[in-house]
Amino acid sequence: MIASENQVCPLYISGKWVNITGKTDSPVFNPSRGKIIASVPMCGAAEVDLAVASAKAAFPAWRDTPPNERAQVLFRAKILLEDAFEELCLGIATEHGKTLSESRGDLRRGIEVVEYACGIPTLLMGESLENIARGIDCHTDRHPLGVVAGICPFNFPALVPMWMWPIAIACGNTFLLKPSEKVPLTMQRVVALLEKSGLPPGVMNIVHGGRECVDAILEHPDVKAISFVGSTPVAREIHRKGTLHGKRVQAAGGAKNFIILMPDADVGRTVEAVKDGAFGCAGERCMAGSTAVAVGDAGEKLLPALVDLVKAMKVGPTDVRETQPDMGAVISTEHKTRVSGLIDAGERGGAKILADGRATKVDEAPEGFFLGPTLIDHVEQGNPLMETEVFGPVLAVMRAKTLDESIDLANRQAFGNGAAIFTNSGKAAREFRRRVSAGMVGINVGVPAPLAYFPFSGWNDSFFGDLHIQGKEGVEFYTQRKTTTTRWFGFGDGEIWAK
Ligand code: NAD
Repeated sequence: MIASENQVCPLYISGKWVNITGKTDSPVFNPSRGKIIASVPMCGAAEVDLAVASAKAAFPAWRDTPPNERAQVLFRAKILLEDAFEELCLGIATEHGKTLSESRGDLRRGIEVVEYACGIPTLLMGESLENIARGIDCHTDRHPLGVVAGICPFNFPALVPMWMWPIAIACGNTFLLKPSEKVPLTMQRVVALLEKSGLPPGVMNIVHGGRECVDAILEHPDVKAISFVGSTPVAREIHRKGTLHGKRVQAAGGAKNFIILMPDADVGRTVEAVKDGAFGCAGERCMAGSTAVAVGDAGEKLLPALVDLVKAMKVGPTDVRETQPDMGAVISTEHKTRVSGLIDAGERGGAKILADGRATKVDEAPEGFFLGPTLIDHVEQGNPLMETEVFGPVLAVMRAKTLDESIDLANRQAFGNGAAIFTNSGKAAREFRRRVSAGMVGINVGVPAPLAYFPFSGWNDSFFGDLHIQGKEGVEFYTQRKTTTTRWFGFGDGEIWAK
């Protein structure tokens, strides 16, 4: 069965939980308490071979299972996930550190992908044209690829893996999941539910590990496609290596999302949205609005109210259902040190701290990896804070004289995941939407993360590949088309046939 707390997480291969010994273990923390709650074995090629062989053996029967029957398994999975919803969310909050309410969002968005994948019979429909030449018809249909793999980051223990496997298996592929070694428990619990939904053994498999394990997946000849989500340097490398080994790869990377604040923005609703965008999930979101650009006198109009909101945020442990804070811990003590160091560097670079989270102490959980929300103003191009993705509870504010200048600032950085504008001017919003170099745009929406039926469409250094995750692009990614051209020469002998 699945690992209980403080145990080494097993692999999941051929429908069985497999304990592996003799590997280096990597600890899994409860970030609210700074305590180890489990560990994962850092697997290599031998374990990947076993998992791929299991997925390969399960593929022919699963491919030949009618799409509506595959959808029925997902319908049952959806019901099981709903029944276990609250328990799973507390598990997410415990292994990740995000609040219970954020954990509910994490799983809810994931379940929406399962719901989308339940529509697979319609999504897989092909195209046809009769009589492309006299007596000849043509049609295309979609076929699964075979064994496909998903490699995930720590920040959405439920959603990111669920961007991948529901659509992949609905399309008839078999799946190999490598969760983040920092948050392996949520998917372990989800896969235990999948078992009860009637998913045949081998359709879903789990291996654990880091680089060695990922390299074995990238090099395995029987893995046909790889979905990756993580930081940009790794995403770039995964795309390079995976395609070199002849695989289809979609690799989503990091981000630095700009939020343009125009002076005509609605003050109350804008500051709430900016606060949530920057500090939701402690800023550990690829769609976090981590940089605000105040245009004209927008800073003077909006920042005082924003500072008040930020200073009022309560930070604390998230693993107790009854007492939830506004913001939880960051993922590790190393990450806390890294983010604090970036704030130090930003300050040394001439920026002005308006709210400082570095010294935050949480009495009820003194060992937790806590960092309070930090708001830092007058950050300029070239400041160390602008050189990298911070991925923590830090909002950098830049100043610009005009809308043009703010768009220019947003477009100068290498990423291109999200961008948003807050304004009451339709013309300004339209101009921004057209010119900003980012794949997901919000207009008076701070975190414009698309739902399951739209692609998660990052641009520039936020995405490497051709087909994005989720929606119709997800179905496209996990299938290959076959185009059949048909001609029949004549009827049989006798007079029973049409004239
Ligand atoms: P990460 O890149 O450190 O790790 C991601 C995965 O890659 C993990 O499973 C890890 O085991 C593996 N990995 C790490 N280093 C590797 C290497 N050298 N070779 C092969 N595999 C390696 O990312 P993280 O810290 O877990 O997650 C945070 C990052 O993910 C942030 O940059 C965030 O922006 C990004 N992210 C992006 C999106 C998106 O849609 N663009 C969504 C969520 C998170």
